[in-house]
Amino acid sequence: MPQYETIIGLEVHVQLKTDSKLFCGCSTQFGAPPNSQVCPVCLGMPGALPVMNRQAITLAVKAGLALNCNIPPMTKWDRKQYFYPDLPKGYQISQYDLPICADGFLDIDDPASEGDTRRIGLIRAHLEEDAGKSQHDEASGRQDSRIDLNRCGTPLLEIVSQPDMRSSAEAKNYLTELKLLLTHLEVSDCEMQEGSLRVDANINLHLDVDGKKIATPIVEVKNMNSFRAVERALDYEAERQYAHWEETGQTIKDAPKTTRGWDDSREQTFAQREKEESADYRYFPDPDLLPVRLPRSFIDQVRDTIQETPAQARDRLQTQHGLSAYDADVIVNQGAAMLGYFETVADVSGDPKRASSWIQQDVLRTLKEQETSIEEFPIPAKRLGELLGRVRSGDLDNNRARDVFAYLIDNDSDVDSACTALGIEAVDSGEIESLCQKLLDDNPQVVQDVRGGKQQAVGRLIGQAKKVNPNANPQQVRETLLKLING
Ligand SMILES: [Zn+2]
Repeated sequence: MPQYETIIGLEVHVQLKTDSKLFCGCSTQFGAPPNSQVCPVCLGMPGALPVMNRQAITLAVKAGLALNCNIPPMTKWDRKQYFYPDLPKGYQISQYDLPICADGFLDIDDPASEGDTRRIGLIRAHLEEDAGKSQHDEASGRQDSRIDLNRCGTPLLEIVSQPDMRSSAEAKNYLTELKLLLTHLEVSDCEMQEGSLRVDANINLHLDVDGKKIATPIVEVKNMNSFRAVERALDYEAERQYAHWEETGQTIKDAPKTTRGWDDSREQTFAQREKEESADYRYFPDPDLLPVRLPRSFIDQVRDTIQETPAQARDRLQTQHGLSAYDADVIVNQGAAMLGYFETVADVSGDPKRASSWIQQDVLRTLKEQETSIEEFPIPAKRLGELLGRVRSGDLDNNRARDVFAYLIDNDSDVDSACTALGIEAVDSGEIESLCQKLLDDNPQVVQDVRGGKQQAVGRLIGQAKKVNPNANPQQVRETLLKLING
């Protein structure tokens, strides 16, 4: 059986986070009633003239810079002709030979080797408008088709990678990192369920047959509506192509690129229409739109608005806050809101490691249980920081702090009131000292054991101290006992 390598390239469409469409003032808000957000321009009525959305250009440049692309000094618009019911103009405004971003890369975690990265090349990223959406309503039994044109003209950035990925796991890491970057920079919200991130995958196999290199025909897989679906579709498709090659011996020279859809419920790909060659689209420059000049000063201005990338944030959490690479990764991968939350908790508590561990355990668990996001989390970052600050200073032990945490989830209260409500009082050190002295007087054996070198003997008294005063901090009791014994 010959060895083979899987060759994967991804085309990702993301909806840019603009208020209005690419060439008109219609809203891009998701979820509005069908055909309520349309005008003559986005419907392509005769005589309607497109006007470019500056914000879309800015966001595309921002994404391109963050993806290490070149931003050429000029870009232009082309019409891509095709007939489809959800495209009333009969063409889509896109970018053909002068895309707004070219030649970039994205570094991703290497799934085959922990701690290593893989660099995935980007061919280009270009702007284009979205088409509408056909709804085939067969469930009602009427078999009628309806069309919602609200999406017509919505700004999309199509990011095209080099065929640099070698496994479905790499494809998933690429998508995860790309989504994280674009949401961090607020270029797109990347909601796959709302269609603001869509993935097409090109895949084929390189086989080594008796020292000769053979490639199987390229297949473009569509209709994958989650990253998990992308992974499964690619695994399925690699196996299918191998079996098909064994059966027919067909190589890339014998067959053109084909398109297959992914059926999530049957977990297989199925044949779709033949892919048009780009020549079939008859691209030509849009006569209604001027080319766009992108002066250096504008690009520098956009560059200045780029906040930290996720990769830079991971480095900073390690150097500035002393987190491990693993912990930094978990926090940053939760998104920008979680990163901000962590930083406040770390600053207020003065204890980044404790902040990181509480967030990873208690906060993430609660978010999962309550099916909510950090933006909706009932304990504000400052309050959690204050709580952890008390653990750090020894005013509260971990168990007590967890009680306060649970109370704060259910009650909008500050840390002091929560402690009062739970009967937690700060015990002053004089009180602890007299309690400890009494316990030692009653247990001379413990004193002897400790003096004989068995420090752990004081453990026997900590439980007793808690019984007398439930607010006594075990750590403080331990230290006080040892201090009294050793003088
Ligand atoms: Zn419009």
